[in-house]
Amino acid sequence: MILRFACFSVALVVSSLALPAQQTSPTTANALASPTPVATPAGITDPKAATRAWLDTMPANEKTRSDAIALLLLTTKLSARIRDLAAALTSFRPIQAGICAIGFAIIIWALNLPLNCYEGFVREHQYGMSNQTFGAWFGESLKALTVALIILPVVFAVLYSIFRVAERTWWIWGTIVGIVLTTALTMAGPVFIEPVFNKYTPLTDPKIRDPILALARANEIPVQQVFVVDQSRQTKRVSANVSGLGGTTRIALNDNLLNQCTLPEIREVMAHEMGHYVLNHGAKITMSLAIFIFVGFALAAAIFNRVLRKRGPSWGVNGIADPAGFPLLMLIFATYGFLLTPIANTMSRTIEREADIFGLNAAREPDATAMVALKLGKYRKMEPTLLEEFIFFDHPSGRSRIRMAMDWKAAHLPCDEAR
Ligand SMILES: [Zn+2]
Repeated sequence: MILRFACFSVALVVSSLALPAQQTSPTTANALASPTPVATPAGITDPKAATRAWLDTMPANEKTRSDAIALLLLTTKLSARIRDLAAALTSFRPIQAGICAIGFAIIIWALNLPLNCYEGFVREHQYGMSNQTFGAWFGESLKALTVALIILPVVFAVLYSIFRVAERTWWIWGTIVGIVLTTALTMAGPVFIEPVFNKYTPLTDPKIRDPILALARANEIPVQQVFVVDQSRQTKRVSANVSGLGGTTRIALNDNLLNQCTLPEIREVMAHEMGHYVLNHGAKITMSLAIFIFVGFALAAAIFNRVLRKRGPSWGVNGIADPAGFPLLMLIFATYGFLLTPIANTMSRTIEREADIFGLNAAREPDATAMVALKLGKYRKMEPTLLEEFIFFDHPSGRSRIRMAMDWKAAHLPCDEAR
């Protein structure tokens, strides 16, 4: 999550859970520390590695990987063999689907391990962004796999029961399950999944806490406490979020933000996060995702059976209700998600820009905004071309953010003189 538009569908939620490169942040407002792109113009000693890392952030790379895994599972009939094994163990179909989920999750996790290790551990160290030992990184990868092994069997059992019963309308029901599932994961993530990876403790320093709470009160955000999350265990990146609904609303910032930034910078970052909350970005993203999921399943309904008529016999896949066909569903959704990348990134950037301007108006710290943009420039390209920004950037570039802050500073009259 990040605005994590990577999950357009159940299949993508499913595959992203099975690809534990880094801990996911299901909250919509994990603003400033999106893991991509990581190319950095400052503080790099190895330009060749930096160039490689920049190229590696291309979504095509991820898609090629997921396509290769899906095709491998289908063409080697590994997928069909997992299904046969599940059928030999039990005759109860939902449990069969659950067993298939476990098989897929473990195989996909293992096949992704080398590249995930490069991206999540080796490359992060090359950039001096990681604080983790290999053991700690691997432990987290195993934890993510465990989370997937708990959630996926249930998802598969439900989804494939529906596919079996509703042979013609499965894609409509799939859409409904997809929307319910993404919403549930978004809401449950901060409460149940994130604590598996990090500890949240109340911020006690009144010098930092009180100005943040004052900012929250001024913007009608119902919170009594600010939480600190110990992300310095994993990374040097700064990050914050406001998540939850009504009584469960929680403001959290990571300890890197606390240690690396001044109070005006912290206020600015928190004001941006509060912007996501006040402007209802969570609901807007959920609605966009619902549309993406609907179109994705409609596309799958149009394509799945056609492909299967040609290839089904050689892959040993019998139809949509056969869990052995899951890799084909993964392939369809990954292609669809890839084609949507510029649209999804543009939607995300637009929302981030709204939060940026809200943050400027609420915190009234344009210089701190510029400073934070520079600090984030350590792991983001500051001045991409317009095309690069359009296709690859899910947040405004450093240049755009600083320009916005300076425009605000130039245009904004002090309150007293504005009367
Ligand atoms: Zn944001």
